[in-house]
Amino acid sequence: MNMNNNRTENAVKQYCDTMIHVIEGLKQGWRRTWLTTEGVGRPMNMSGREYSRLNEFYLLMVCEQMGYDYPIFMTFNQCKQSGVHVNKGEKSVAVLFWCMRAHEKRGKNDISIDNYHQLPDAERDRFETYAVLRCYNVFNIAQTSMQEDAPELYEKLTSNYKTPAIAETTDGMYSNAKLDNLIAGKWICKVIVRKQSKAFYNPKSDSILLPEKEQYNMGGTTEQVYAGGQEYYSTFLHEATHSTGADTRLNRFDKGKEEGKAYGREELVAELTAALIGHELGFNTSVEKNNAAYLSGWLKVCKEQPRFLVSVLADVSKAADIIDKAIDAA
Ligand SMILES: [Zn+2]
Repeated sequence: MNMNNNRTENAVKQYCDTMIHVIEGLKQGWRRTWLTTEGVGRPMNMSGREYSRLNEFYLLMVCEQMGYDYPIFMTFNQCKQSGVHVNKGEKSVAVLFWCMRAHEKRGKNDISIDNYHQLPDAERDRFETYAVLRCYNVFNIAQTSMQEDAPELYEKLTSNYKTPAIAETTDGMYSNAKLDNLIAGKWICKVIVRKQSKAFYNPKSDSILLPEKEQYNMGGTTEQVYAGGQEYYSTFLHEATHSTGADTRLNRFDKGKEEGKAYGREELVAELTAALIGHELGFNTSVEKNNAAYLSGWLKVCKEQPRFLVSVLADVSKAADIIDKAIDAA
């Protein structure tokens, strides 16, 4: 039950407005791998608590748009308490959360859930609990002075996101000579391979940036090392698909623009095309963990709007044709 409709509505509206704003902004930016941050992990607050699913996608989108390396957020007061300040001119974003409270059935008392639990049983019967949607404002760790003013705390918080040590070898990893040839110079745009944490296609310079293959070697069992190689090629295929969408090629990036869906649509095209080509080559592309939840949302839309799926699949097949041809010629 919701005792606070106005407030809830305002919070939801604020959340949606910000979300739309972020999506609008994403349409302009580099098309990096969807929702990548420096390390692997879910957004969390200063005490290490992970944000709810309600806020997870939203906060990752904020990181993506703003280029924040770590999805670590904090309120203004949390900053202050740790002797850190918010950098001048930085704007906060609003996150939503469900707050449990209790109110008196025949009275006006409204108390926190903690106070409710402390009441004696007989007293408690006079109350009933309810959930209310609230919002509060948070700043990313990069918007604060933490790195300079509280380096130990900064190190502690960000260490949760450091990627595991990697083996400096590609031995035992799946390899594909044709795809290696594409990456080495036979693809339709430049592919720059270097040690970095992100893969993305940059439409401005028409080039793909790809981490080194050995960075996908996380060690573990023979199968895991082997699969790391497939992950590397999956990443390439995903970014290669993006590069087929450039204005000079399939001119696909603005599709869905009217509905504010261009970026998400493009990600869906990239994931599905990579999956299709990977399948053709005999390996399963793994939809990135962060992408999975997002894509399932889109697939729901697809189910409700079959026309949308048809138009996406048409683009998938055009992109896959270009990749297939290049593989044949490589
Ligand atoms: Zn992408």
